[in-house]
This record gives sequence, structure tokens and C-alpha cells, in this order.
Amino acid sequence: MKKLSRIILIIPIIFLILSCDSNTAKEEMPPEAPATITIENIIDTHAHILLPGQELSLNPSTPGSPDELKKQMEASGISMCGIMSMVAKDNLDVMREHNDYILKLAQENTEFFPICSVHPLDGEAAVAEVERVAGLGAKGLKLHPFFQGFDPADPKVYAVVAAAGKFGLPVIFDSISASDGGATGKFVDMALANPNTKIILAHMRGTQFPETLLFSVFAKGPFYKNNVFFDMSAVADLYYESPKQEELMWTMREIGIDQFLFASDFPVFDLKPAREVMDEYGFSKEELQKLYHDNAIKIFDL
Ligand SMILES: [Zn+2]
Repeated sequence: MKKLSRIILIIPIIFLILSCDSNTAKEEMPPEAPATITIENIIDTHAHILLPGQELSLNPSTPGSPDELKKQMEASGISMCGIMSMVAKDNLDVMREHNDYILKLAQENTEFFPICSVHPLDGEAAVAEVERVAGLGAKGLKLHPFFQGFDPADPKVYAVVAAAGKFGLPVIFDSISASDGGATGKFVDMALANPNTKIILAHMRGTQFPETLLFSVFAKGPFYKNNVFFDMSAVADLYYESPKQEELMWTMREIGIDQFLFASDFPVFDLKPAREVMDEYGFSKEELQKLYHDNAIKIFDL
């Protein structure tokens, strides 16, 4: 009896020692040193530049000029950048002028690729502009529910999203909409109704990022075509070195790293710190290769 109780006492102690050992081993494992991870041809899929007639940069401390963007690309080892316009409603001439400017800049500078914009509430004129810019070499569309003032569930938005899909253009939506609690569900509905359009949720819904886990649930079913992607601008920085950094990475992996893109949101964020944050998050080299390059090539057909 005495022997048995001694064994009972010893077993948990052995487990305790073993688990301590494995914890120590984990802690002592050197983390993958970011400096050793070299990814070639890094692509940033989200940059704003000042458009004709605009004077205020989105960040007062960083000029939003193409030259500043190029300078920052060089300093941070980023070789390609998606530059975007964003247009107001009922301003069709300015819409075309800004889109033409983006298209021309990208034509003259091979390190840029053009992401145009329309205002969905312009209706048929917006749909016609999607066709026009697609014909001129646009690689995507940028829409901003909060800044442009529209509801993602509006049928006119669906018409633009469907047209973009028809011409092979992914649509980037700013997805931080603090006043629209149902935005995640609206993007789910939009993706289901427009299976042929790639929808990119910039900033991965920001502080609502845990809700994006929904997309991993839909991906298990036959109806959802996995046509929603996410860019990591702002959100990666927001949660870096926070208690939620692990949760953010876990959520991304649950959804699938193939759905994610590195992005800065220049000039709101400078390129170098955006890249340093991504380098140091803790992703493997294979994951960084997808985030920095491979996914952008596939999604934007670059
Ligand atoms: Zn932006």
C-alpha cells in the first residue's frame, strides 16, 4: 500500500519535471531571426498618393507624393506598390481625371500598379467607369464605405462589385467602420452574392478582426468561393507586441495565409515601420513569401 502511494506521488512529479523541461526547451529555442528572412520583390498593395487638386496628405508629417513613395520603397526594400484613387459622389469629371492620373503614373513608373475608384452611388456612370478603367489596364478598385459615405449592402454597390468581377478587378474595401456593427455580415453577403469578384477587406476589420474568423467557417461549405481577402495595413501595427498579437496570427492561419496581403496604407503609415512590424510578427519564411509577394501576384494578376 505504501509502495502504491509512493508511485502515485512520483508519477505527477515526473510529469511536472517533463513539462517544465519542454517549456524550458520551448523558451530556449531561438525565435526565427527576422534578419535571416529575405524575401525578394516585396509588394505593398495599398498606398494613397496626392491626386490632382488635393493639397492635404492623409498624414500631415508625410508628404503623399509619388516621389516620397518611391523614396520610401527604396529605403524599405519594397519593389512594387499599388497606388489608389478615391472619388467623391456626383463628380464624374474628377473621377475620370483621378483615375487617368493613377493609370498614367503606373504606366510611367513600373514599380507602381494602378488601383482606380468610382463612387458606387453614381450608379450606371460608376459601372461604366469600371469597364473603362479595366480596358485601360487598372488592376483593382478601391471603395471606402465610411469616407465615400455608402452602405456596403446597397444594391448599387453590388452592381459595381459585379462589374469589377466581370472585368477581373479585385475590389478593396476599407473595412474599419466603427459605426456599422453589421459590416462583417454585409461583406459575407456581398461575397456570397458575387462569387466571381475578389473582395479585399483592407485592415482586416480593424478592432473587429476576430469576426473575420466567420470566413473560415464559410470556407468549409460549398457555397462560399473563398473570394474574400484581407490586407494587413493598420491592423498589424495596431496589435504588434500586444496581448492580441497571437490571436491575430491564429485568426489569419485559421482563415488561411493565402487570403492575406502585406500593405502599408501609405502615407498614413510609412513603409519602413510597416515592413519591420511584418518582419517581426513571427511568421515563417513560407508565410512571409506569400504575404509579401505570392498572394499579391495571384490576387491582382500582376
Ligand atoms: Zn487606405
